[in-house]
Amino acid sequence: MEIVRVPVLSDNYAWLIHHAGQTVALDPGEAAPVAAAAAARGGTIAQIWLTHWHPDHVGGALALKADGARVAGPAAEADKIEGLDTLLAEGDTISVGGASATVWSVPGHTAGHIAFHFDDRATIFTGDTLFAMGCGRLFEGTAAQMHANMRRFAALPGDTRVYCGHEYTLSNARYAAVAEPENDAIIARLADVTAMREQDEPTIPTTIALERATNPFLRSVDAEELAERRAAKDAFKG
Ligand code: ZN
Ligand code: FE
Repeated sequence: MEIVRVPVLSDNYAWLIHHAGQTVALDPGEAAPVAAAAAARGGTIAQIWLTHWHPDHVGGALALKADGARVAGPAAEADKIEGLDTLLAEGDTISVGGASATVWSVPGHTAGHIAFHFDDRATIFTGDTLFAMGCGRLFEGTAAQMHANMRRFAALPGDTRVYCGHEYTLSNARYAAVAEPENDAIIARLADVTAMREQDEPTIPTTIALERATNPFLRSVDAEELAERRAAKDAFKG
C-alpha cells in the first residue's frame, strides 16, 4: 500500500491510498490537486472516503465523483454530505485493492466523524479527531466523547502510523509545551517540528508511540483534563 500526501486549501492534507492498482482519495477538500496527484502516478480515483462533513474535507468529492469515483462516508452525516454512495458506521469494513480498513466511530469534532483503520497494516486515518500533538475542536460533541476516542487511539500498537487532516503540528507543539512544560519529549519535538516547518517539510504521518509521549490530549488523564486543555488551546495564541 502506498500513501501519498496531497496538500489542499491552506493547511489541509488529502490522502491518496494506492493498493493493487486501485486508488482511494481520502478527504479531498479540493478536486484539482487530488486528481492531478493521482494522474501523475498514473491512476484514476476509484473511491472517495470521507471522515466528516466539513467542506475542507468533502469540497472536491462531487467533482471527483463526476469522473467516476464512488463516495463513502459517515452514515450519521449522510444528510450533510451530498453524493454518498456507501454509508459507513462503527465496525464496517471497506477496502482498496483488497486491503481492508475498519471504520471507527469517533464523534466529538463532528457528531458522526469516522476514522479508517487498516488493522493489519498499522495505519489509521483520523481526519480531524487525532492530530499530531493535538485533537480536533469540539464543535458537535463532548470532551467525554473525545477522551474516549483518545483512549482508543492510545491503545493501538505504538508503531501505528497516523494520517490526519491538517498540518497543525507547530501550533499544537507550542501549546503542548505550555500544557506540559516538564515533558522533555514535548520540548524536543517542538524543536524538531519547528525545524521541519522552517524547511516547509510535512510533519505527518505521526505515530501512536510519538503521540503517547507528546500529545497533551491523548495524554489527558480524564475527560475533565481534556476539556480544560481543549478550552486552553482554543484560546491559545501561540
Ligand atoms: Zn473538520
Ligand atoms: Fe478540517
